[in-house]
Amino acid sequence: MTKKWWPSWDTRTHFNCLQTCIASARLTERIRSSLSNCNDLPPSLTRQSILHECRKWNLVWVGLNKVAPLEPDEIEMLLGFPKDHTRGGGSSRTERYKSLGNSFQVNTVAYHLSVLKDLFPNGITVLSLFSGIGGAEVALHRLGIHLKAVVSVEISEVNRNIVRSWWEQTNQTGELIDLADVQELNGDRLEQLIRRFGGFDLVIGGSPCNNLTGSNRHTRDGLEGKHSSLFYDYFRILDVVKNVMGKAS
Ligand code: SAH
Repeated sequence: MTKKWWPSWDTRTHFNCLQTCIASARLTERIRSSLSNCNDLPPSLTRQSILHECRKWNLVWVGLNKVAPLEPDEIEMLLGFPKDHTRGGGSSRTERYKSLGNSFQVNTVAYHLSVLKDLFPNGITVLSLFSGIGGAEVALHRLGIHLKAVVSVEISEVNRNIVRSWWEQTNQTGELIDLADVQELNGDRLEQLIRRFGGFDLVIGGSPCNNLTGSNRHTRDGLEGKHSSLFYDYFRILDVVKNVMGKAS
């Protein structure tokens, strides 16, 4: 869409990992002003350093010598979400970037979950942990799998609102229950939910990875890090679900 502004020396054909924050206006302005001082082809060192920043921040050329970060609606599209999925409902631009940067890529998840369609012709009951903006829910819906019930656990109220409003907009006939903190989802509560819905057909989720590798990480504390240790809650919950459902059958 912005092809006409891309200089010949920027040979990128792919984006890098989408991040939870974007390049500063200072950086994009610095790039613009360093290029406007050059004639045709900037010196090799200038090109290299600009390309480095472009790769790091997924910058796109949107005008003469003018780079910019992807817009939230462009990221929504790249991640396979409906347009304006994260827009409105009180969510700020910064929050949109954060939620999008942490999200599943919908088509990829749908590809992996496509086997479920024939296995569950009447629909499924889902326990969605760390639901974020609902990458898993959107993927299942996209596959035409009926969502009989979804128990969605997500700490951010902004994200919970996004999933709730998507649920309402897509005229779901099932039930959406949203809970905030996985750490509070104890054995009793899980047992209650399993009894109420006759068990879960799918447990899905991606616990926070910002203490692990990747460009979104804050620290390298690994699985013991403040956020990433929630992986152990995922593990605990999965174990309870298996045990309770094993006993019931
Ligand atoms: N797969 C999701 C995003 C996963 S990112 C998607 O498609 O959007 C991890 C998510 O875990 C974030 O949205 C974060 O807000 C949430 N989270 C962090 N701590 C949590 C907790 N204690 N309980 C529930 N969710 C939590």
